[in-house]
Amino acid sequence: MPKAERVFRTEAIVLRRQDIGEADRLLLLLTPDHGKFRAVAHGTRKPAARKTGHVELFTLVDMLIRRRGEWYVVAQAETKNAFLLLREDLVRNTYANHLAELLDRFTSDQDSSRAEFDLLARALGWLCEDLDPRTAARYYEIRLLALAGFAPSLHYCSVGQEPLEPQDQFFSVADGGVICPDHYFEQAHGMPISLTALKVLRHMQTQPWDAIKALHINTPLHLELERLTLAYITYLLEQRLQSVEFLRRLRREEL
Ligand SMILES: [Zn+2]
Repeated sequence: MPKAERVFRTEAIVLRRQDIGEADRLLLLLTPDHGKFRAVAHGTRKPAARKTGHVELFTLVDMLIRRRGEWYVVAQAETKNAFLLLREDLVRNTYANHLAELLDRFTSDQDSSRAEFDLLARALGWLCEDLDPRTAARYYEIRLLALAGFAPSLHYCSVGQEPLEPQDQFFSVADGGVICPDHYFEQAHGMPISLTALKVLRHMQTQPWDAIKALHINTPLHLELERLTLAYITYLLEQRLQSVEFLRRLRREEL
């Protein structure tokens, strides 16, 4: 028996899109209450496609979605926030792509929450502000990691759990945060983190965006923060990919 068709209205952010056939597009959408899913937008590349024509990447859209079984179709779409600067500025566009990609990689279909949706919607707005986009990107990464359950430990040594002294420390991706010099020299893995970078990361974990954007972050500090967060994210994603591959292998062996 075919499943009943359901129609619902939702806000959505377009994370990715792909042309299919002559005029249709497959959109990867992030929504506040229905998680992440793929939906077909018919006729979006025809100039006359009024109803579903507003499906640019990294826009906030009000949508009417028709669901039939596993299939989602965009019935109506109206842009709520176009984040125009993200299309006009190539650097900002690249950052928007990075934010969307991270969100996609750290969430499974349908398990993303309203918090993740709100974070991405706000972060696209931060990228449009007249500020270094790296500040917005780092802040977003730290917040996304916390939502995904991977907040780095920044106040206690990740190996010995003792409180950290106010001095330069080390960061260990495998231990999930900062480690003190004593434990670093015992285990010999990790990378240096300056006390200034540590303070900025702590701020990012707890402070609202208005406080973060007021910070003065010079280029060497930006580079240090980028190196640290990207190393940690890369490590986590590799672990995740390995665990997915491991599960697949187990399943194959079961057959
Ligand atoms: Zn320690």
